[in-house]
Amino acid sequence: MVTFGRKGFPSMITTGQKIAMHRTERSRLGDTDLANVKFGRVFSDHMFVMDYDGNQWTEARITPFADLTMSPATLVLHYSQTIFEGLKAYRSASGGINLFRPQENIARMNRSAHRMCMPGVPEDLFLEALIELVRTDGGWLPTDEEGALYIRPFMFASDEYIGVKPSEGYRFIIFTCPVRQYYAEPVRVKIETQYSRAFPGGTGETKCGGNYAGGLYPAKLGQDKGYHQLVWTDGLEHRYIEESGTMNVFFNIDGTLVTPSLDGTILRGVTRDSIIRIAKDEGVPVEERRVPVDEVLAAARNGTLRSAFGAGTAATIAHISTMAFGEETFELPAIGERAVANRIGEVLDGIRRGRIADPYGWMVPVV
Ligand SMILES: *Cc1c(COP(=O)(O)O)cnc(C)c1O
Repeated sequence: MVTFGRKGFPSMITTGQKIAMHRTERSRLGDTDLANVKFGRVFSDHMFVMDYDGNQWTEARITPFADLTMSPATLVLHYSQTIFEGLKAYRSASGGINLFRPQENIARMNRSAHRMCMPGVPEDLFLEALIELVRTDGGWLPTDEEGALYIRPFMFASDEYIGVKPSEGYRFIIFTCPVRQYYAEPVRVKIETQYSRAFPGGTGETKCGGNYAGGLYPAKLGQDKGYHQLVWTDGLEHRYIEESGTMNVFFNIDGTLVTPSLDGTILRGVTRDSIIRIAKDEGVPVEERRVPVDEVLAAARNGTLRSAFGAGTAATIAHISTMAFGEETFELPAIGERAVANRIGEVLDGIRRGRIADPYGWMVPVV
Protein backbone atom coordinates (compact mmCIF):
# COMPACT_ATOMS: atom_id res chain seq x y z
CA MET A 1 0.00 0.00 0.00
CA VAL A 2 1.30 3.42 -0.94
CA THR A 3 0.00 6.40 0.94
CA PHE A 4 1.04 9.99 0.80
CA GLY A 5 1.41 12.93 3.15
CA ARG A 6 -1.70 14.51 4.53
CA LYS A 7 -0.66 18.12 4.85
CA GLY A 8 -3.57 20.44 4.12
CA PHE A 9 -6.37 18.06 3.21
CA PRO A 10 -9.58 20.03 2.89
CA SER A 11 -13.03 19.03 1.76
CA MET A 12 -13.58 17.12 -1.44
CA ILE A 13 -15.09 18.63 -4.56
CA THR A 14 -15.77 16.56 -7.63
CA THR A 15 -15.01 17.98 -11.08
CA GLY A 16 -17.16 17.57 -14.20
CA GLN A 17 -16.13 13.97 -14.76
CA LYS A 18 -14.45 11.49 -12.51
CA ILE A 19 -11.53 13.34 -10.97
CA ALA A 20 -11.90 14.19 -7.28
CA MET A 21 -10.36 17.48 -6.20
CA HIS A 22 -8.60 18.19 -2.90
CA ARG A 23 -7.18 21.68 -3.10
CA THR A 24 -4.30 22.77 -0.93
CA GLU A 25 -5.24 25.12 1.90
CA ARG A 26 -2.11 27.13 1.41
CA SER A 27 -0.53 27.72 -1.98
CA ARG A 28 3.28 27.93 -2.05
CA LEU A 29 3.11 30.14 -5.13
CA GLY A 30 3.50 33.37 -3.17
CA ASP A 31 6.80 32.08 -1.69
CA THR A 32 8.23 31.16 -5.10
CA ASP A 33 10.29 33.40 -7.35
CA LEU A 34 9.09 32.13 -10.74
CA ALA A 35 11.64 34.27 -12.57
CA ASN A 36 14.50 32.32 -10.97
CA VAL A 37 13.43 28.69 -10.82
CA LYS A 38 15.99 25.97 -11.49
CA PHE A 39 14.93 23.29 -13.97
CA GLY A 40 13.20 20.38 -12.22
CA ARG A 41 13.64 21.63 -8.65
CA VAL A 42 10.43 23.56 -8.00
CA PHE A 43 7.08 21.77 -7.94
CA SER A 44 3.62 23.30 -8.31
CA ASP A 45 0.95 23.00 -5.61
CA HIS A 46 -0.92 19.93 -6.84
CA MET A 47 -0.50 16.50 -8.39
CA PHE A 48 -2.83 14.05 -10.09
CA VAL A 49 -2.86 10.54 -8.61
CA MET A 50 -4.69 7.31 -9.36
CA ASP A 51 -4.21 3.65 -8.51
CA TYR A 52 -4.56 0.46 -10.50
CA ASP A 53 -6.01 -2.36 -8.43
CA GLY A 54 -5.08 -5.20 -10.78
CA ASN A 55 -8.25 -4.71 -12.73
CA GLN A 56 -8.98 -1.02 -13.23
CA TRP A 57 -7.84 2.50 -12.44
CA THR A 58 -9.45 3.83 -9.27
CA GLU A 59 -9.62 6.96 -7.15
CA ALA A 60 -8.54 9.50 -9.76
CA ARG A 61 -7.81 12.64 -7.79
CA ILE A 62 -5.98 15.93 -7.74
CA THR A 63 -4.35 16.47 -4.34
CA PRO A 64 -1.71 18.71 -2.80
CA PHE A 65 1.83 17.83 -3.98
CA ALA A 66 3.21 15.77 -1.10
CA ASP A 67 5.68 13.04 -0.19
CA LEU A 68 4.86 9.38 -0.76
CA THR A 69 5.42 6.75 1.88
CA MET A 70 5.86 3.17 0.80
CA SER A 71 6.98 -0.24 1.95
CA PRO A 72 10.66 -1.09 1.43
CA ALA A 73 9.30 -4.14 -0.41
CA THR A 74 7.52 -2.05 -3.06
CA LEU A 75 8.35 -3.75 -6.37
CA VAL A 76 9.49 -0.68 -8.27
CA LEU A 77 12.32 -0.07 -5.81
CA HIS A 78 13.86 -3.43 -6.70
CA TYR A 79 13.17 -4.24 -10.34
CA SER A 80 12.50 -0.83 -11.90
CA GLN A 81 9.07 -1.45 -13.31
CA THR A 82 8.51 2.25 -13.92
CA ILE A 83 7.92 4.52 -16.91
CA PHE A 84 7.62 8.27 -17.40
CA GLU A 85 6.81 11.03 -19.86
CA GLY A 86 7.72 14.69 -20.26
CA LEU A 87 5.76 17.43 -22.00
CA LYS A 88 5.11 21.14 -21.60
CA ALA A 89 2.28 23.64 -21.32
CA TYR A 90 2.88 27.10 -22.80
CA ARG A 91 1.25 30.46 -22.31
CA SER A 92 -0.01 31.89 -25.58
CA ALA A 93 0.36 35.48 -26.73
CA SER A 94 -3.33 36.02 -25.92
CA GLY A 95 -2.92 34.78 -22.33
CA GLY A 96 -4.38 31.28 -22.69
CA ILE A 97 -2.53 28.09 -21.77
CA ASN A 98 -2.00 25.26 -24.26
CA LEU A 99 -0.51 21.78 -24.13
CA PHE A 100 1.85 20.81 -26.96
CA ARG A 101 0.83 17.55 -28.69
CA PRO A 102 -0.24 15.77 -25.48
CA GLN A 103 -1.83 12.92 -27.44
CA GLU A 104 1.66 11.92 -28.62
CA ASN A 105 2.92 11.60 -25.05
CA ILE A 106 -0.20 9.70 -24.00
CA ALA A 107 0.25 7.23 -26.87
CA ARG A 108 3.97 6.85 -26.15
CA MET A 109 3.37 6.27 -22.44
CA ASN A 110 0.88 3.54 -23.31
CA ARG A 111 3.39 1.92 -25.66
CA SER A 112 5.99 2.05 -22.87
CA ALA A 113 3.44 0.52 -20.48
CA HIS A 114 2.78 -2.33 -22.89
CA ARG A 115 6.50 -3.14 -23.22
CA MET A 116 7.01 -3.05 -19.45
CA CYS A 117 3.99 -5.27 -18.69
CA MET A 118 2.09 -2.38 -17.12
CA PRO A 119 -1.54 -1.31 -17.63
CA GLY A 120 -2.39 1.38 -20.17
CA VAL A 121 -4.11 4.58 -19.11
CA PRO A 122 -7.40 5.41 -20.90
CA GLU A 123 -6.51 8.22 -23.30
CA ASP A 124 -9.48 10.43 -22.44
CA LEU A 125 -8.87 10.16 -18.71
CA PHE A 126 -5.13 10.87 -19.18
CA LEU A 127 -5.89 13.97 -21.26
CA GLU A 128 -8.52 15.15 -18.81
CA ALA A 129 -6.05 14.70 -15.95
CA LEU A 130 -3.43 16.79 -17.79
CA ILE A 131 -5.94 19.54 -18.54
CA GLU A 132 -7.41 19.63 -15.01
CA LEU A 133 -4.01 19.65 -13.35
CA VAL A 134 -2.61 22.41 -15.55
CA ARG A 135 -5.82 24.41 -15.08
CA THR A 136 -5.53 23.99 -11.29
CA ASP A 137 -1.90 25.16 -11.21
CA GLY A 138 -1.98 27.50 -14.22
CA GLY A 139 -0.76 30.32 -11.99
CA TRP A 140 2.57 28.50 -11.73
CA LEU A 141 3.30 29.02 -15.42
CA PRO A 142 5.84 31.85 -15.58
CA THR A 143 4.45 34.86 -17.43
CA ASP A 144 7.69 35.77 -19.20
CA GLU A 145 8.14 34.87 -22.88
CA GLU A 146 10.47 31.98 -22.18
CA GLY A 147 8.63 30.20 -19.38
CA ALA A 148 6.66 26.96 -19.49
CA LEU A 149 5.14 24.38 -17.19
CA TYR A 150 7.02 21.09 -17.50
CA ILE A 151 4.67 18.15 -16.94
CA ARG A 152 5.92 14.83 -15.60
CA PRO A 153 3.51 11.86 -15.79
CA PHE A 154 4.90 8.58 -14.44
CA MET A 155 3.75 5.15 -13.31
CA PHE A 156 5.30 2.55 -11.02
CA ALA A 157 4.75 -0.97 -9.68
CA SER A 158 3.26 -0.62 -6.19
CA ASP A 159 2.86 -4.22 -4.95
CA GLU A 160 4.70 -5.17 -1.77
CA TYR A 161 6.36 -8.34 -2.84
CA ILE A 162 9.90 -9.58 -3.38
CA GLY A 163 9.98 -11.62 -6.56
CA VAL A 164 10.51 -10.88 -10.23
CA LYS A 165 7.06 -10.73 -11.72
CA PRO A 166 4.76 -7.98 -12.97
CA SER A 167 3.05 -6.07 -10.19
CA GLU A 168 -0.72 -6.23 -9.93
CA GLY A 169 -1.06 -2.76 -8.48
CA TYR A 170 0.33 0.45 -9.96
CA ARG A 171 0.31 4.10 -9.08
CA PHE A 172 0.07 6.78 -11.77
CA ILE A 173 1.06 10.35 -10.87
CA ILE A 174 1.37 13.60 -12.78
CA PHE A 175 3.09 16.63 -11.30
CA THR A 176 4.34 19.85 -12.84
CA CYS A 177 7.35 22.16 -12.54
CA PRO A 178 7.55 25.80 -13.59
CA VAL A 179 10.57 26.13 -15.90
CA ARG A 180 12.31 28.96 -17.69
CA GLN A 181 14.02 28.68 -21.04
CA TYR A 182 16.45 25.84 -20.58
CA TYR A 183 19.47 27.89 -21.58
CA ALA A 184 20.66 25.83 -24.47
CA GLU A 185 24.37 26.51 -24.39
CA PRO A 186 26.03 24.61 -27.28
CA VAL A 187 27.04 21.16 -26.06
CA ARG A 188 30.22 19.16 -26.34
CA VAL A 189 29.49 15.52 -27.17
CA LYS A 190 31.46 12.32 -27.38
CA ILE A 191 30.51 9.52 -29.75
CA GLU A 192 30.34 6.45 -27.51
CA THR A 193 31.80 3.25 -28.92
CA GLN A 194 32.24 1.06 -25.86
CA TYR A 195 29.04 1.21 -23.79
CA SER A 196 25.47 0.82 -25.09
CA ARG A 197 22.14 2.18 -23.91
CA ALA A 198 19.98 0.00 -26.18
CA PHE A 199 20.07 -2.96 -28.51
CA PRO A 200 17.61 -4.72 -30.84
CA GLY A 201 14.85 -6.37 -28.84
CA GLY A 202 15.64 -4.32 -25.74
CA THR A 203 13.83 -1.37 -24.20
CA GLY A 204 15.52 1.53 -26.02
CA GLU A 205 12.26 2.84 -27.45
CA THR A 206 10.66 2.82 -23.98
CA LYS A 207 10.81 5.73 -21.52
CA CYS A 208 11.51 3.31 -18.66
CA GLY A 209 13.59 4.21 -15.62
CA GLY A 210 16.25 1.55 -16.09
CA ASN A 211 17.38 2.92 -19.46
CA TYR A 212 18.54 6.10 -17.78
CA ALA A 213 20.22 4.47 -14.79
CA GLY A 214 22.30 2.33 -17.14
CA GLY A 215 23.48 5.40 -19.04
CA LEU A 216 24.76 7.29 -15.99
CA TYR A 217 28.15 5.64 -15.69
CA PRO A 218 29.25 5.95 -19.34
CA ALA A 219 27.90 9.55 -19.31
CA LYS A 220 29.95 10.27 -16.20
CA LEU A 221 33.12 8.95 -17.87
CA GLY A 222 32.40 11.38 -20.72
CA GLN A 223 31.73 14.25 -18.31
CA ASP A 224 35.04 13.58 -16.55
CA LYS A 225 36.68 14.27 -19.92
CA GLY A 226 34.73 17.48 -20.45
CA TYR A 227 31.80 16.28 -22.58
CA HIS A 228 28.24 17.23 -21.61
CA GLN A 229 26.60 14.32 -23.38
CA LEU A 230 27.31 11.09 -25.19
CA VAL A 231 26.09 10.29 -28.65
CA TRP A 232 25.09 6.64 -28.39
CA THR A 233 25.78 4.25 -31.23
CA ASP A 234 24.10 0.94 -32.04
CA GLY A 235 24.64 -1.78 -29.47
CA LEU A 236 25.77 -4.45 -31.94
CA GLU A 237 28.60 -2.81 -33.89
CA HIS A 238 28.86 0.79 -32.61
CA ARG A 239 28.81 1.81 -36.27
CA TYR A 240 25.54 3.75 -36.48
CA ILE A 241 24.45 6.89 -34.63
CA GLU A 242 21.46 6.51 -32.32
CA GLU A 243 20.70 9.48 -30.03
CA SER A 244 22.13 11.65 -27.31
CA GLY A 245 21.21 11.80 -23.61
CA THR A 246 17.48 12.52 -23.62
CA MET A 247 17.53 14.01 -27.09
CA ASN A 248 17.28 12.76 -30.66
CA VAL A 249 20.04 13.97 -32.96
CA PHE A 250 20.08 15.71 -36.34
CA PHE A 251 22.99 16.43 -38.67
CA ASN A 252 22.92 19.10 -41.35
CA ILE A 253 25.04 17.49 -44.05
CA ASP A 254 25.38 19.81 -47.04
CA GLY A 255 21.91 21.29 -46.49
CA THR A 256 20.07 18.01 -45.84
CA LEU A 257 18.84 17.22 -42.34
CA VAL A 258 19.82 13.64 -41.58
CA THR A 259 18.49 11.82 -38.51
CA PRO A 260 18.50 8.15 -37.42
CA SER A 261 15.32 6.27 -38.35
CA LEU A 262 13.06 4.80 -35.66
CA ASP A 263 14.11 1.17 -35.55
CA GLY A 264 13.15 0.27 -31.97
CA THR A 265 16.33 1.30 -30.17
CA ILE A 266 15.79 5.06 -30.04
CA LEU A 267 13.08 7.18 -28.47
CA ARG A 268 10.30 8.39 -30.76
CA GLY A 269 10.76 12.02 -29.81
CA VAL A 270 7.82 14.37 -30.23
CA THR A 271 10.30 17.20 -30.82
CA ARG A 272 12.04 15.05 -33.47
CA ASP A 273 8.75 14.45 -35.27
CA SER A 274 7.77 18.13 -35.07
CA ILE A 275 11.15 19.25 -36.45
CA ILE A 276 10.84 16.84 -39.38
CA ARG A 277 7.34 18.15 -40.21
CA ILE A 278 8.38 21.80 -40.04
CA ALA A 279 11.64 21.23 -41.95
CA LYS A 280 9.79 19.54 -44.83
CA ASP A 281 7.25 22.37 -44.94
CA GLU A 282 10.08 24.91 -44.94
CA GLY A 283 11.55 23.16 -47.98
CA VAL A 284 14.49 21.62 -46.12
CA PRO A 285 15.30 18.08 -47.35
CA VAL A 286 15.09 15.51 -44.53
CA GLU A 287 16.40 11.95 -44.51
CA GLU A 288 15.36 9.46 -41.82
CA ARG A 289 17.66 6.49 -42.19
CA ARG A 290 20.56 4.64 -40.62
CA VAL A 291 23.35 7.18 -40.07
CA PRO A 292 26.83 5.61 -40.14
CA VAL A 293 29.33 7.14 -37.74
CA ASP A 294 31.82 7.04 -40.64
CA GLU A 295 29.58 9.25 -42.76
CA VAL A 296 29.29 11.90 -40.03
CA LEU A 297 33.05 11.82 -39.41
CA ALA A 298 33.79 12.11 -43.13
CA ALA A 299 31.39 15.06 -43.39
CA ALA A 300 33.06 16.70 -40.38
CA ARG A 301 36.49 16.19 -41.97
CA ASN A 302 35.57 17.50 -45.42
CA GLY A 303 33.53 20.47 -44.18
CA THR A 304 30.08 19.34 -45.37
CA LEU A 305 28.85 18.82 -41.78
CA ARG A 306 27.34 22.28 -41.38
CA SER A 307 25.81 21.74 -37.96
CA ALA A 308 24.52 19.12 -35.57
CA PHE A 309 21.95 19.40 -32.81
CA GLY A 310 19.96 17.48 -30.23
CA ALA A 311 16.15 17.74 -30.08
CA GLY A 312 13.96 17.16 -27.04
CA THR A 313 11.20 18.71 -24.92
CA ALA A 314 13.49 20.20 -22.26
CA ALA A 315 15.79 22.26 -24.52
CA THR A 316 13.91 22.01 -27.86
CA ILE A 317 17.15 22.41 -29.85
CA ALA A 318 20.64 22.04 -28.35
CA HIS A 319 23.39 22.93 -30.81
CA ILE A 320 26.46 20.73 -30.76
CA SER A 321 29.68 22.75 -30.71
CA THR A 322 32.23 19.95 -30.35
CA MET A 323 32.09 16.30 -31.31
CA ALA A 324 34.71 13.80 -30.21
CA PHE A 325 35.41 10.37 -31.63
CA GLY A 326 38.26 8.48 -30.02
CA GLU A 327 41.21 10.85 -29.90
CA GLU A 328 39.85 13.07 -32.68
CA THR A 329 37.75 16.16 -31.91
CA PHE A 330 35.80 18.28 -34.36
CA GLU A 331 34.78 21.87 -33.74
CA LEU A 332 31.54 22.47 -35.62
CA PRO A 333 30.95 25.84 -37.28
CA ALA A 334 28.80 28.24 -35.26
CA ILE A 335 26.34 31.13 -35.89
CA GLY A 336 25.50 31.24 -39.63
CA GLU A 337 25.68 27.50 -40.11
CA ARG A 338 23.02 27.04 -37.43
CA ALA A 339 20.46 29.03 -39.44
CA VAL A 340 18.36 26.02 -40.52
CA ALA A 341 18.02 24.69 -36.98
CA ASN A 342 17.35 28.16 -35.58
CA ARG A 343 14.64 28.84 -38.17
CA ILE A 344 12.89 25.54 -37.38
CA GLY A 345 13.23 26.25 -33.65
CA GLU A 346 11.64 29.68 -34.14
CA VAL A 347 8.67 28.23 -36.02
CA LEU A 348 8.20 25.54 -33.37
CA ASP A 349 8.39 28.04 -30.52
CA GLY A 350 6.13 30.45 -32.39
CA ILE A 351 3.45 27.77 -32.74
CA ARG A 352 3.75 26.79 -29.07
CA ARG A 353 3.39 30.35 -27.85
CA GLY A 354 0.65 31.32 -30.29
CA ARG A 355 2.80 33.89 -32.05
CA ILE A 356 2.22 32.16 -35.37
CA ALA A 357 -0.74 30.10 -36.58
CA ASP A 358 -0.69 26.39 -35.78
CA PRO A 359 -1.24 24.71 -39.16
CA TYR A 360 -0.81 21.23 -37.67
CA GLY A 361 -3.45 21.24 -34.92
CA TRP A 362 -0.72 20.57 -32.35
CA MET A 363 -1.88 22.87 -29.56
CA VAL A 364 -4.57 21.74 -27.10
CA PRO A 365 -6.14 24.59 -25.11
CA VAL A 366 -6.40 24.24 -21.33
CA VAL A 367 -7.77 27.69 -20.52
C1 LIG B 1 12.35 11.88 -23.93
C2 LIG B 1 13.52 11.49 -24.78
C3 LIG B 1 13.76 12.06 -26.04
C4 LIG B 1 13.01 13.26 -26.58
O1 LIG B 1 11.65 13.08 -26.70
P1 LIG B 1 10.70 14.36 -26.78
O2 LIG B 1 9.35 13.76 -26.94
O3 LIG B 1 11.10 15.16 -27.96
O4 LIG B 1 10.88 15.12 -25.52
C5 LIG B 1 14.80 11.54 -26.81
N1 LIG B 1 15.57 10.53 -26.36
C6 LIG B 1 15.38 9.98 -25.14
C7 LIG B 1 16.25 8.85 -24.72
C8 LIG B 1 14.36 10.44 -24.31
O5 LIG B 1 14.20 9.91 -23.10
